[in-house]
Order: sequence, then structure tokens, then C-alpha cells
Amino acid sequence: MGYKRGLGGYCGIFGVYGAPQAASLAVLGLNALQHRGQESCGIVTSHEGRLHRRIGMGLVGEVFNRPDHLEALPGLAAIGHTRYSTTGTSDYHNIQPIQVITKDGELAMAHNGNLTNAAALRRELEAEGAIFQTTTDSEVILHLLARSRGKSLEERVLEALPRLQGAFSLVFLTPDGMVVARDAHGFRPLAMGELDGQPVFASESCAFDIIGARTIRDVEPGELLLVNGGPLRSIQALEGARRSHCIFEFVYFSRPDSKIFGENVDKTRRKLGKTLATEHPAEDADIVLPVPDSSNTAALGYSRRSEAKFELGLIRNHYVGRTFIRPGQQSRTDGVRLKFNAVEGVLRDRSVVLVDDSVVRGTTMIKLIRLLREAGARQVHVRIASPPVRFPCYYGMDFPDENELAAAGRNVDELCLHLGADSLRFLSLEGMLEATGMRASSFCTACFSGIYPEEIVDAGIPAGLRPPSHLPGLRSASPPNMEESPS
Ligand code: SF4
Repeated sequence: MGYKRGLGGYCGIFGVYGAPQAASLAVLGLNALQHRGQESCGIVTSHEGRLHRRIGMGLVGEVFNRPDHLEALPGLAAIGHTRYSTTGTSDYHNIQPIQVITKDGELAMAHNGNLTNAAALRRELEAEGAIFQTTTDSEVILHLLARSRGKSLEERVLEALPRLQGAFSLVFLTPDGMVVARDAHGFRPLAMGELDGQPVFASESCAFDIIGARTIRDVEPGELLLVNGGPLRSIQALEGARRSHCIFEFVYFSRPDSKIFGENVDKTRRKLGKTLATEHPAEDADIVLPVPDSSNTAALGYSRRSEAKFELGLIRNHYVGRTFIRPGQQSRTDGVRLKFNAVEGVLRDRSVVLVDDSVVRGTTMIKLIRLLREAGARQVHVRIASPPVRFPCYYGMDFPDENELAAAGRNVDELCLHLGADSLRFLSLEGMLEATGMRASSFCTACFSGIYPEEIVDAGIPAGLRPPSHLPGLRSASPPNMEESPS
């Protein structure tokens, strides 16, 4: 049986300590982090020596929609989680924060990221008698803590962390305090803020803005923070790993109003668009269109550096939920038409540049190009503000299997034909890294480059460049520089 990537996944986490109405703050914070996970969410609070939890499937506004939901979550400390939808894995048992009772008392945990040695650890723990309640990789962390001989949560976490590989930004809550930790590579973002002198933590700084907190700094890769009402204590728990921030956070996932890895997402995303326009201008184009909303900022950057005007030629319907049922219209109304419509007045007889942040499966792009042509666009030139995604992510991004990636096994000309565009160009790997304004070596680019920062234990993949033989059908043998068709 093939390796199955873990289900910890792509999520948002939040923590607040020492604040009146901690649960209300967590609801607001999770709302701001909703884009990081729409499948399920939950909050755990600590009050008078007990933990209190409410979790549910759905959006934050659906799970916490009555005053009594918050009344059932008393206390001055809270942690929260929003979980990303991974196809076919909707399961109530996998909702976070996970809460357990150990020999040392109650413990709750929220995890963003994906462990790459979870299967190996789980086999080991099961052989020793551990019984798992979820199918998430996150649960192994709790089992390691429960089995530790450490006398305090701090000692137990310090003992468990070195055993974990892959991506993890973590918040733990007990009746006595909170512990926050981040993996040594710093794959996923995790920021620390301050609200009325008390610490708050979130995957992205946009969660601080909504509650009026001030962003202080990132939780450092490998850092452990201990919060219990006294002065904050910081321990460098993990050392020696190269920084490998996920570059896809800048390309697509994080909100433009957030600051991650020490840089503004909006600024970086504009720069991605500008560099794309410099590398791949579309001289004959009349207008530049974003694929709303994720590409708005990159398309703005592109239009600033080109002659073509920024226009909104595609309108997105924000009210189509994931579970929307199309009554009797399946054959005529596909998912893309439910989500997007074209503005004929903008498009008729125009040559357009359509800017998107990335191409993963490519199915939406095919339909959008068709939509633009039906609305009268004369030519559709596609410009992508990142290189082709050709390799799987093992660190929590929910990409499909590699044989479903549109760019796997196709060069750029073939992909252009497949999508039905008049031209197709991708931002180079070098251009993408340069746009961050940070050291290129501090990023993970594995899904673009095939270079994995560390061994993927569960998949048997060593660190470094992944051999092309792993990709049936890929003819290019030079993954690090793949922005153009290997002619
Ligand atoms: S493989 Fe891609 S999506 Fe995954 S952590 Fe690395 S850069 Fe991010």
C-alpha cells in the first residue's frame, strides 16, 4: 500500500492567556483564520482547574452561533483551531483541539502542520499498547506526552518534541498553563502578540488585528514558550535545522493583511506580480484580470508593472458553501459557474492577461478560460505568480496526489494546450524567492523544486532533491529551474 500523507493538515491555531472572555477572543481570532480551514473548528478553555471544550463541523460562525455556546466556555485562557478540508476525511473525531485526560490531568492541543514520521511513531506506540481515537497525525504528539516520565508539561513537551519530524506549530492548554511550540524548520507561521499585557498566539497576525492585540514577533523555529501568568519563559527546544518557511504561504495561503515570517504578505504578493510582469510581459494585452480573491494582490502588482489596466472581469460569489447542493442542475451548472461569473462589458473584444497565484489541478483554470472566451475575450494569456507545482507537499498543504497535478508530466507548452490558453508563463523559482526580500535558503520550495528540506520518514524519501523517477511521465530532469518549457 502506498504512503498516505497525514491528516494533521493545513489549519489555523490560536491561543490567548490571562484575558477576560478568552473564548470570545478565540471565536474572533478563529474567524480571522477561517481561510486556513473551513471543515471544522473548536475551542478549549481553562477554568477553575478544569478544561471545557466545544467543537463542531463547519465554519466558526456556524459552530459558535449562540450565547450559551460561549457561556459553556468559561475562563481566562483559551486555545482554538480551524481545520482544512481534506477530501474524504471529514470525521468528527479528527476535530481539534484534541482533549485528553492523562495521568497528570487534563490536556488539550491544537496543531497546524503535518508530521512526516507520524506513521512510524504510531506503529511504535501501538506496539506498546497505545489506543488511538483519531486518524490524525496530531494524536501521536499527545501519546508521546502521556507516556513521558517528565514531571511537568514543560518536561514532557521537551522530551516529545525531538521525536517529531515535519511541520508543527502547536498550542497546548492545561488547567495550569499554556505551552506553545514550533518545529525547528519553521515550516508554518506562528506569531506572538500582546493584549492588555497578556500573550496571544496565532497562525497569522490578522487574528491579532481583529481583537485589538499588538503583534510582537514570530515564535522562533524550535522555540518553546511557557505561559502561566508569570513572566513568559522561552526555551530553544530544538536546534540545528535549516529554516524552511513554506513559500506557498506567501503565494496563496496566508491573508494579504497578515505579517508572516517577518514580512507583509501583501507586499510580497505584489512583488510576485511585479516580478512576473518583468519576466513574462504580455505586450498585446489590453487588461489584467485576477482570479478573485486569492490572486487580486499579485494581479495588482502585475498591472502596475505593465501597460495593461487592472480590471475586475471575473466576479466571485462568496456565498457558495462547500456543501452547496445543485438541485437538478448538475449537468448544466458546474462548480466553477456557481463560484465565478464573467463581466461581459469588461471582456468583449479584449485581449486579457489572467493572473493566478498557482496551478495545482488546473481544472478551475480550464473552466475560467472557457468562461472568459464565452464572455467575448479575444485572447486569454495566463500568467502564474509561482512556478509549476510538480511535487507533493508532506508538510500540511492539501495538494492532490502527484499524478493529479496538472504540471506533472507536462511541459509548459503542453500545459498551455491542456488549459486552452493563448499563452502560459510561470514565475521562475528565483523570481519567487527574490520577491520575498529574504534569504532564499530560508524557504521550503519542495512542491516546486523537488528539494525536500528533511527526510520524509513515512514515505521513505530522503532529504534533498527528489529523483525524477518518483514522477512518472515528468520529462524535465531539472526541477530547480522549471519556469519555462523544456524545449
Ligand atoms: S512543499 Fe510547498 S506547500 Fe509544502 S511546505 Fe514546502 S513550499 Fe510549502
